[in-house]
Amino acid sequence: MTKIQGIILSFLLLVFSCQTTEDDFIESAEENAIIQVTNHNGKPFDSGTSASIPKSFNAGPGGGVMMQAFYWDVPAGGIWWNTIKSKVTSWSNAGIDAIWLPPASKAQNGPFSMGYDPTDYFDFGNYNQNGTVETRFGSKTELVSLITKAHQQNIKVFADMVLNHNSGGQLENNVYTGGQTWTDFSGVASGKFLRSQHDFHPNGIHHNDSGAFGGYPDLCHDNSYVQDWLWNRADGVGKYYKNTMKFDGWRFDYVKGFAPWVINAWNAHIGGFSVGEYWDSNVNTLEYWANNANSSVFDFACYYKMHDAFDSNNLNKLNDDMMWKRNPFKAVTFVSNHDTNIIYKKMLAYAYILTHEGYPTIFYKDYEVWLDKTSLNNLIWIHNQKATGTTSILYTDTDEYIARRNGYNGEPGLIVYLNNSNSWKERWVPTNWYNVQIKDFTGHSGWFPTTQGGGWVKIQSPPNSYSIWSVNY
Ligand code: ZN
Ligand code: ZN
Ligand code: ZN
Repeated sequence: MTKIQGIILSFLLLVFSCQTTEDDFIESAEENAIIQVTNHNGKPFDSGTSASIPKSFNAGPGGGVMMQAFYWDVPAGGIWWNTIKSKVTSWSNAGIDAIWLPPASKAQNGPFSMGYDPTDYFDFGNYNQNGTVETRFGSKTELVSLITKAHQQNIKVFADMVLNHNSGGQLENNVYTGGQTWTDFSGVASGKFLRSQHDFHPNGIHHNDSGAFGGYPDLCHDNSYVQDWLWNRADGVGKYYKNTMKFDGWRFDYVKGFAPWVINAWNAHIGGFSVGEYWDSNVNTLEYWANNANSSVFDFACYYKMHDAFDSNNLNKLNDDMMWKRNPFKAVTFVSNHDTNIIYKKMLAYAYILTHEGYPTIFYKDYEVWLDKTSLNNLIWIHNQKATGTTSILYTDTDEYIARRNGYNGEPGLIVYLNNSNSWKERWVPTNWYNVQIKDFTGHSGWFPTTQGGGWVKIQSPPNSYSIWSVNY
């Protein structure tokens, strides 16, 4: 638009905004500059392949969705693997392409442990150790049966790997501390990856790495013996989990506790999908870690921005920097997890992550207990079938947010309209679609508008909800 047209438009805006509501036609997305958020060839996030799933399987042009298949504290008693096994068929039908399981090996707290205090990486509930044979989640046989069933349903299985620390060793005299430490793991029941004080900090290599957790013995990944057992040996942890247990990928716990090259080395030797829990809202830090670890990272920046935006009534916050905007192919997005649950307006947040880039994760309790499963299934379907291409933000204000996925490989993409107010909203928006009928694939709006020759169309969104538009076919 020319400068003089801009002045006229501004004048009209001034006049009309005095006379009408903020949602009048004239206050369309045209007053907002379109922000091109990502620039790439439009490919979807790649969550990896599985040797156990037919190569032909494809969740959809938008990619798949991960399910975090546990929460804190799932029922004890060795029933959890069977519980998940009973659900993977319906999850697969809903469009879930991977599940993330809790740490699967025997931990210090035995039958009560959620797995984050690992003692013996090779005891999957098949040795009598730490007061129990089965883990909190079940037996090794039940775990293998779950993994097999998931693969039959085209669902990949990601293991939660705790590599920062161990727990449950015996007391020994420690030459590095001059005192006694719980670093004697020479008697673990599997007889594999026997550890001692030399494999933890402080040791003969150095005093510490980038972080310890809760006073647990802190593994030293600079020690070649530790490297051998984690990723070099054919019978070591990584290769056993991948080749024998058939895990397809990894969620790495507490990666702040050691250097990113550790995950880089694991991924180079083992392969498979990889995401790190780097609990930090600083996008520079997340991006640095992901690049150096050669891994995806959970998008904690997006998580906190969604909280700011939806719960503090300022959707302009969604313009801020996030990991998925820096690198959509290394960002795993989420709304809540087993550790943190601060977002109140969760359906808006799920509508956001399931229409935007990155690899979205759904939290078990949100899906199975707290939220409306039909609505989530609709969003998963939209993600897998329609959420394609790069992202442009078309409009934001305090209570409205409209963004466009620009499509890929002949797919039309979508337009998502989030409304965080108590009334219906409507706006004219610029689409990539010309003279075609569109519809709201959530069914929230009954409109079936046709886009103009220039691509403009008026869409609406219901109070405290969302609509998601694409070509009607
Ligand atoms: Zn070290
Ligand atoms: Zn550490
Ligand atoms: Zn508004």
